[in-house]
Amino acid sequence: MTPTTTTPRGVTGSVALRGVTKVYGQGGNAVLALDRVSLDVTPGEFVCLVGASGCGKSTLLNLVAGLDRASGGAIELGDGVNPGLMFQEPALFPWLTVEANVEVPLKLRGLPRAERRARVAELLRTVHLADFGRRRPHQLSGGMRQRVALARTLALDTPVLLMDEPFGALDAMTRDILHDELERIWSERGLTVLFVTHNVREAARLADRIILLSSRPGRIIWSTRVDVPRPRRIDSPEIATIAAEVTDRLRTEVGRHGQ
Ligand code: ADP
Ligand code: MG
Repeated sequence: MTPTTTTPRGVTGSVALRGVTKVYGQGGNAVLALDRVSLDVTPGEFVCLVGASGCGKSTLLNLVAGLDRASGGAIELGDGVNPGLMFQEPALFPWLTVEANVEVPLKLRGLPRAERRARVAELLRTVHLADFGRRRPHQLSGGMRQRVALARTLALDTPVLLMDEPFGALDAMTRDILHDELERIWSERGLTVLFVTHNVREAARLADRIILLSSRPGRIIWSTRVDVPRPRRIDSPEIATIAAEVTDRLRTEVGRHGQ
């Protein structure tokens, strides 16, 4: 046993990928979706993952979420954290009220009823849906449904949020509002966020760091820090400049593949 520790491990909220490879299928039908992807996300960091359609963004997120297994390499989550995952579709239970939807993870965690009630109320306040607890999902707008999904994910009390194009189906105005809300919740709770989008402006608006994946197989080909002070505006010149640079890189990459 060596008494010296070189790397601090098990830091809550950290996400580390070490040479992660994913192959779907076998033999002649095998598809290399991710090729030796290494990435360190520090606790509290907001990282946006950008890349062309089919480059492996969802694959990467699903591996981190533990929904699927990597073919090679390793994924380390600080303190064995179980991340929360959010998709473009809010995937709410249509027969349950908003309150009951948010309560599901709390029930699964075995919280007593009174505590669940208090937590649900607090979470609905957090996403500005305090007055909508008794509604059902079909009575809400798309943006409101995504807020419910966010509240339900926050109910997991996990420090790591994985988001796969969560606002991709929303109109620009609604998305803009949800960016502000997500940023507020992220900073208040000190969350670590890994956010997938193909919208470069959205990435520049939200990220501390933008990571660009190549077309299949997905490899990290470029990354940049976004040092624009918060709060940010998606239509500000600083964000536009960064978005333009990412778009250029993305174009070059897609062009290289003759798509
Ligand atoms: P993205 O989210 O960036 O659009 P995905 O991660 O969904 O990309 O997919 C990456 C590649 O892996 C694509 O070529 C896709 O067709 C392939 N793929 C994804 N899931 C599967 C699967 N379950 N079986 C076979 N191929 C898959
Ligand atoms: Mg995807």
